[in-house]
Amino acid sequence: MNLDNCPRCGRLFAKNFRDVCPACIKDIDKEYELCTTYLRENKGAIITELSEATGVSIRQITKFVREGRISLVNAPNMSYPCEVCGTLIRDNHICDNCRARLQKDANKLKSTFASKPDDGKTYERT
Ligand SMILES: [Zn+2]
Ligand SMILES: [Zn+2]
Repeated sequence: MNLDNCPRCGRLFAKNFRDVCPACIKDIDKEYELCTTYLRENKGAIITELSEATGVSIRQITKFVREGRISLVNAPNMSYPCEVCGTLIRDNHICDNCRARLQKDANKLKSTFASKPDDGKTYERT
């Protein structure tokens, strides 16, 4: 059996496919129910409203959305924070700005490596 600490409550539990302990799975399922019920009745809700009304953390709601458990199709105003800057988005993990910046950083890194001075000598490893 593969024992691990639950990342949510810290209790030791036998690892399962959900990565949290059975007690937390139950909690999370309850939170999920609260969210879907609220969204069914308040289709125009935004994530902060949903979080306040249900007591479920924005982080957990974000997780539901990413896992595809909460669909944004039926919640036109729902969005979740970009992982980097917190801007509200509806696609991907990060916003367009952060994606562009990361892309630029990645390119810069690549060119730094590419422009590393190369004296043409080959070194023999001993
Ligand atoms: Zn737990
Ligand atoms: Zn961002």
